[in-house]
Parts: sequence; C-alpha cells; structure tokens
Amino acid sequence: MAKRRQKGMPNACRCGESSLIKTSGTSKNPGRLFHCCPKGSENDNYRLFKWTDESMVEELFFMKETMKNLEMKTRTCEDMVNCIEKDIKDLKMVGRGYEKEMETMKAEVRLLKCMIVCGVVVFAGYFRFCA
Ligand SMILES: [Zn+2]
Repeated sequence: MAKRRQKGMPNACRCGESSLIKTSGTSKNPGRLFHCCPKGSENDNYRLFKWTDESMVEELFFMKETMKNLEMKTRTCEDMVNCIEKDIKDLKMVGRGYEKEMETMKAEVRLLKCMIVCGVVVFAGYFRFCA
C-alpha cells in the first residue's frame, strides 16, 4: 500500500477522526506507543498507524527547523530595532541642532525688536525736538 505518511505526530486520520495513542500489546513491540484511528482500533487493519517514537523524532526535527527559522527572524528583528534606534538618535541630534538655531534666531529677533524700539524712540524724540 503506497500511503503518504504525515510528517511528525498525526493529529487526525484521513477519515477525519482525531488520532489516538495506544500501547502495542504484540510480542514484537510490547509496550510501544503508536498513533491510530479510533475507528480502526477494533481490527488490525488500521487506517492510521504510526509509531509514536518515530513521529516524536520527526516532530523534534521539525521543531529544530522552526527554532532555527525563529532565531533568524529574531536576528532580523534585532537588526531592524537597532537601525530604528540609530535613526531616532540621529533625529534627536538633528532636533537639537534646530533647537540651537531657534535659540539664535529668537535672540536675533529680540535684538531687532530692541533696535526698532530704540529707533522709534530716537525718531520720536527727534521729531518732538524739531517740532
Ligand atoms: Zn480513520
């Protein structure tokens, strides 16, 4: 029978039933756990049959692959976070530069106001003196 084996622990049989884990009672594999279909448990012709220790090994390999992928994704995320942190730092520096520029401009405006007020006072005094 050419059946396609599910990788890892089978969750369900092809018939749709959830798989069961049972203990083998044969003299060849006494006490060995296996996955089976609840419908097929009454006869030897299981629609789903897989040794649990074999499926566990497959599951472990699968988990190892998943862990490796997760590690790679985590590293990518860390790189992105580092990039964003650097951008934020750069933006703060630029912001500080603008703050300094703003302070200089405010001081210049204050000086200009002073000069205008002085000019107006001088002109007013001059016109009053002349009038
Ligand atoms: Zn089944």
